Amino acid sequence: KPRLLDDEEGGVLFLSSSLSSSASGYGYASFEKQRQRLPVYKYRTAILYLVESHATTIVVGETGSGKTTQIPQYLKEAGWADGGRVIACTQPRRLAVQAVASRVAEEMGVKLGEEVGYTIRFEDISNPDVTRIKFLTDGVLLREMMDDPLLTKYSVIMVDEAHERSISTDILLGLLKKIQKRRPELRLIISSATIEAKSISNFFQSSKRRRVAEDEELRSRLEPAILSVEGRGFNVQIHYMEDPVQDYVQAAVSTVLLIHDQEPAGDILVFLTGQDDIDVAIKLLTEEARSNGKNSSGMIILPLYSGLSHAEQDLVFSPTPKGKRKVVISTNIAETSLTLEGIVYVVDSGFSKQRFYNPISDIENLVVAPISKASARQRAGRAGRVRPGKCYRLYTEEYFVNEMSVQGIPEIQRSNLVSCVIQLKALGIDNILGFDWPASPSPESMIRALEVLYSLGVLDDDAKLTSPVGFQVAEIPLEPMISKMILASNELGCSEEIITIAAVLSIQSIWFSGWGAQKELDEAKLRFAAAEGDHVTFLNIYKGFLQSGKSSKWCHKNFINYHAMKKVMETREQLKRIALRLGIVLKSCERDMQLVRKAVTAGFFANACRLEAFSHGGMYKTIRGSQEVYIHPSSVLFRVNPKCVIYHSLVSTDRQYMRNVISMDPSWLTEVAPNFYQQQQQQQQLRNPIIH
Ligand code: ADP
Ligand code: MG
Repeated sequence: KPRLLDDEEGGVLFLSSSLSSSASGYGYASFEKQRQRLPVYKYRTAILYLVESHATTIVVGETGSGKTTQIPQYLKEAGWADGGRVIACTQPRRLAVQAVASRVAEEMGVKLGEEVGYTIRFEDISNPDVTRIKFLTDGVLLREMMDDPLLTKYSVIMVDEAHERSISTDILLGLLKKIQKRRPELRLIISSATIEAKSISNFFQSSKRRRVAEDEELRSRLEPAILSVEGRGFNVQIHYMEDPVQDYVQAAVSTVLLIHDQEPAGDILVFLTGQDDIDVAIKLLTEEARSNGKNSSGMIILPLYSGLSHAEQDLVFSPTPKGKRKVVISTNIAETSLTLEGIVYVVDSGFSKQRFYNPISDIENLVVAPISKASARQRAGRAGRVRPGKCYRLYTEEYFVNEMSVQGIPEIQRSNLVSCVIQLKALGIDNILGFDWPASPSPESMIRALEVLYSLGVLDDDAKLTSPVGFQVAEIPLEPMISKMILASNELGCSEEIITIAAVLSIQSIWFSGWGAQKELDEAKLRFAAAEGDHVTFLNIYKGFLQSGKSSKWCHKNFINYHAMKKVMETREQLKRIALRLGIVLKSCERDMQLVRKAVTAGFFANACRLEAFSHGGMYKTIRGSQEVYIHPSSVLFRVNPKCVIYHSLVSTDRQYMRNVISMDPSWLTEVAPNFYQQQQQQQQLRNPIIH
């Protein structure tokens, strides 16, 4: 047994460095060597011992120390997957699930999808008969609970990246705590890159448990163990800006060029916020490097965001050729979820895309917002993996010290809770306000969500799921509004069209962006543009794609992302299967787009807006909350400005912009959601919107 020193305060366990364990005979020699060099390897025996003796083990360790790729393998080697049992490892991000699963399969020398598999929404690369280590998103594991509430096939569940506090992670932690009471043999490992683990540890050792467990041994089993993996990160020198920057994309590009010009070899990792600014940065960087002349060569510039094809992902992870410098321009995903080898320089914009929800206005937004100090430290840490590195923060030291918040806010406290509430209801959790949350959401958000679900016909007067609508909506693995839209299309006779629309909406963008061809892109859009709006435009594109014989050339010519279209086809097939299971009849409404618009309204009535003023680029107000919104320039209805519209989502920059917009007739609102838009109130609002 390893020698463990108990720290009185929090039960933190430090391990003597003399620990070592013999490697098992898995994998190829070269991988075996690599595996043994990882910091987590020294703790192998300790981890296995703690998992054996504690219901919950919390593992804290630097990104890259081997938590995600190694711990599931250790567990398997120790027999936790014997007898048909499965080891699960959850991730908040889809791309991370795919990347780590394929890495682990490679290390074990097995084919992905067999012994090691993964499941993300609409993509199941696992085999229930043979898969022993399964990576999956925390959202997918929540879904699995609908069929198997106690998750009986899993012996160990590792909830990874817990410091991110994604909404699904928090729901999962709350539910797993419940499951543990019913399944004492289940083991949880919660892993985190920061010591934020403390609050999670407190969550798992509530005082009630301590009282219940009089028995000393039982008590210690229920107390979570915390294990801290000592990393071997190198020193990272931090550089700040002297003055605040106006444009972080431009500043990032200039900084990369400066590093490339003046610093010795080593790859660069740039943190921006999303596909849009990453594509702009790549374009600028390519152009400026070219016009710079002498130093343009030697850079391999690569994007990293979710939605990349497997081939694009592989490029990011493949070793940098000699004499070259890789420049990876990434979203938050490279902050802790993925490890890139060879990074020596980090450029940190100080921003990320975050979800914000305001229950008063009932508006959820994706906003480019400042990161926390904890995130900034993580980002800087990525520069010190292989040797001492440098981090260039595109903000001032004064800003870092005085303005940045210490920690981020858990997503559950800044999100719309509609999906969360319906999932809990479907799992039979009736008292949602009384649910044991790792961090409580606001009562206002809860009430809003209950109200919307009631108006969707998903919950009844007693806040129970309705039958069949409520159960059907819960079964479809999409936002409840989309699910409702699909159910409505069955009644309206346009399910073929709506399922296509739902598939497209589940993908980030089907347009090929970047590379500075805005004019050509706009022209291509015009070729498909429908007067009704973006949803109908998607139908035109889908039809064109089918008529072209699903040709990649056709996509290229029309500035459509072929990879995204293939994904749409796959998703559509999956949705069709789900629809058939729910008894939905597949039917096309041919050219009657009014039916399609009605079905969209039946799901998204809460996002109805009315044109207030043609000036200022067409100002709309949400009918219910009177919030000022504008049509996004990427929409085919930009500048067309129909009287009443429904949007799919909002993004906010200088203004709140509606993305994916369709025109609508306001008289439908009382028809589809009489509770939400009471007749009398609505007439009044249409004349003179009430300010809430
Ligand atoms: P952690 O979860 O602690 O952040 P990981 O288990 O993800 O660490 O990574 C451990 C090591 O495995 C990394 O430092 C890297 O060397 C290697 N690794 C992980 N994923 C990949 C990959 N996709 N390609 C190549 N090497 C990888
Ligand atoms: Mg990890």
